[in-house]
Amino acid sequence: MNTEVTPSISSSKANLLGMTREQMEDFFLGIGEKKFRAQQVLKWIHQIGVDDFGQMTNVSKALRQKLAAIAEIRGPEVVHREYSADGTRKWVMKVGNNSMIEAVLIPDGDRKTLCVSSQVGCSLDCSFCSTGKQGFQRDLTTAEIIGQVWIANRSYFEGEPIRENRERAITNVVMMGMGEPLLNFDNVVPAMRLMLEDCAYGLSKRRVTLSTSGVVPMLDRLGEEIDVALAVSLHAPNDALRDELVPINRKYPLSELLAACRRYLGRFQSEEGGRRKITMEYVMLAGVNDTPVHARELVKLLKDTPSKLNLIPFNPFPHAPYARSRREDILAFQKILADAGYICTIRSTRGDDIDAACGQLVGQVQDRTRRAERWQSRQDGSREIFRSAT
Ligand code: SAH
Ligand code: SF4
Repeated sequence: MNTEVTPSISSSKANLLGMTREQMEDFFLGIGEKKFRAQQVLKWIHQIGVDDFGQMTNVSKALRQKLAAIAEIRGPEVVHREYSADGTRKWVMKVGNNSMIEAVLIPDGDRKTLCVSSQVGCSLDCSFCSTGKQGFQRDLTTAEIIGQVWIANRSYFEGEPIRENRERAITNVVMMGMGEPLLNFDNVVPAMRLMLEDCAYGLSKRRVTLSTSGVVPMLDRLGEEIDVALAVSLHAPNDALRDELVPINRKYPLSELLAACRRYLGRFQSEEGGRRKITMEYVMLAGVNDTPVHARELVKLLKDTPSKLNLIPFNPFPHAPYARSRREDILAFQKILADAGYICTIRSTRGDDIDAACGQLVGQVQDRTRRAERWQSRQDGSREIFRSAT
């Protein structure tokens, strides 16, 4: 048998794409340069979108050459991209040898919201989520996470001559792509720092949202480290149903999760006149969690936790064991929440012509984990291996 191994192509150069301002300042000090170079280079990378040191005209030629020898600016490789007629853009990006992630950009008026992935796959296996069905492959690096924002932003400059005062295209980032961001905390937090950083994307903390299925201990750490908007994937108004839909609930039940949400808000209570709220995401699954009884239970559950609701019509994927709730049921559910005084929005299903749904795209492009095969054969009652729909 031929057991020859192809050496993987890995670079020993420092990738500046994933460095926060502090890390880049240390990097420049470490190579005997002035600290202020970090701010200049951050702007070139994130605001002007360059990946070639040669284009950094306010950096001396000698330093540009030095940087080219020891460092690089390397984002994920785009293997598939689609731009929809309604302005939605999606990218499938290759990270490492065989892993794919996705990022989806959804425009809405003046806003351009990018949905960013934090892991390849996810270990938490929520029953309605196609990412969960792909199993977990690995955490993304900070460069791979911020690289999605970098690529999306650059896509608006394509073909334009380099300008130093480029307006950044992305106005909002939601960590709602593949993966559970709080289980990749050490890479996600620096990436979010770059999103907030004035010399990089300069987004306000209300425009960067972390979405979690409820990893309670990490929610407390998040509050200690960074101040961003928080969304929680609630999806059920009681533990029995949530145990089934979001299995991490068996470890951290609703009472603990909501207490952690209140602690998170408590840290920032003095700001914004105490008006800050957690966005509770609630996927609408026909006949499962979408009845008026569920809505009334939800009203009671959330009464002590400043919340607003975002109802997400279920996005079907091949062999999913659920159907999307009917429009009239979603509206009736919304009315019960609204009558009880909650802000309750319904997520619009944009980009339907390119199938843009956070956390689902890669599942349609590839799905090679054994878990998917097992799950598939359970669904089919056959040994058939998962075949992508595309
Ligand atoms: N792991 C994190 C973030 C990624 S998922 C989390 O669970 O919050 C982002 C959002 O999409 C979550 O609210 C998730 O529950 C929801 N989601 C997953 N699969 C979905 C589907 N098929 N239809 C609609 N929403 C889905
Ligand atoms: Fe993971 Fe979030 Fe999907 Fe659950 S919903 S499996 S936590 S990505």
